[in-house]
Amino acid sequence: MTRDGLGEVDRPTVSFELYPPRNPDAAPKLWATIQALGEARPDFVSVTYGASGKTRDTTRGLVRRLLRETSLNPIAHLTCVGASRAEITAVVEEFLDVGVRSFLALRGDPPVHEVGWRPHPEGMGTAAELVGLLREIEARRCADSPAQQVRATVRPLSVAVAAFPRGNAGAGSTREQDIAALLAKQAAGADFAITQVFYDAASYLELVALARDAGVTIPIIPGIIPATDPARLLRVEALTGVPVPRDLLALLTSFDDEPSRHRAGIRASVELVNRVLDGGAPGVHVYTFNTHHAALDLLEGAHLGGGARPGSRPGQPAADHGIVHHQSQGA
Ligand code: FAD
Repeated sequence: MTRDGLGEVDRPTVSFELYPPRNPDAAPKLWATIQALGEARPDFVSVTYGASGKTRDTTRGLVRRLLRETSLNPIAHLTCVGASRAEITAVVEEFLDVGVRSFLALRGDPPVHEVGWRPHPEGMGTAAELVGLLREIEARRCADSPAQQVRATVRPLSVAVAAFPRGNAGAGSTREQDIAALLAKQAAGADFAITQVFYDAASYLELVALARDAGVTIPIIPGIIPATDPARLLRVEALTGVPVPRDLLALLTSFDDEPSRHRAGIRASVELVNRVLDGGAPGVHVYTFNTHHAALDLLEGAHLGGGARPGSRPGQPAADHGIVHHQSQGA
């Protein structure tokens, strides 16, 4: 393990995905969750964005609040499907104006049930084009203002993209097509990728190996769901097309009591995290579904993040608790 100039131990990154509250009543609960997740000292938290832009205001509102009221580093998801370049440009400008410097650039999925839906005639067809647009807008703002240029030097724009361990079943594409798309996103200026959910380490490790062979050099962070709630896993399966292994579902549903199911799900997820980290993953991005218990239990089990509390490993000095000890961890 190395130390950086601030004396911080080099450790895998930890990050969380949140979604904006669906109604104002949910906001206080979400805020309590965010404070609890903050204990893990995440490297960033990402905030989702509706495919048709319908969460434009709530995503921006949450990201702005995170910027103003916390020390967390928010990444705003952004989708481009169904909108014109001019509309997307306006959204990007709004986000930049409130101080957002990190984006997750996505195409988003066209609405499946909307009769007569057509792509916008002046829109963008791929996430790679959105990455290019973000870089273009930032370059223009810097060219127009020396002050902006200084700020951009101090806080550079970062652009993340999505990657798909077994192809994107939701979009009907194979892993090979998605690796070609990932290469195009990198060429357009993407800095790193976050993967879709997966349940076996091999699918992530194979994706990384194939992507490297194809010339992808950017870090690829595995996206992990704490697998504690079988009903949620099935909803995610319906949404993403990523099948939940039937033996995992059978295990989870074999328990009559919630605490036992939770522990079994966390054990399975810790095992997955340990395997991808042992295989060289740069960190983990946890899909939280706006709750913190499972996410923090997963991190604690894998001894990741600032949440790895002193005393969580017997005999380990407190200063060491940010280091990943996954290799010595059983499932
Ligand atoms: P693209 O990379 O543009 O891919 C779209 C399709 O075009 C794919 O089939 C791809 O294979 C093909 N393609 C693109 N470029 C090429 C190329 N050069 N060569 C060959 N084929 C190509 N959706 C939301 O609505 N809101 C969110 O906040 C959101 N967050 C997400 C976060 C993560 C981490 C992930 C993994 C997904 C998220 N999604 C979200 C879902 C995502 O928008 C959909 O999965 C969408 O179908 C694909 O988006 P993309 O950015 O990968 O698109």
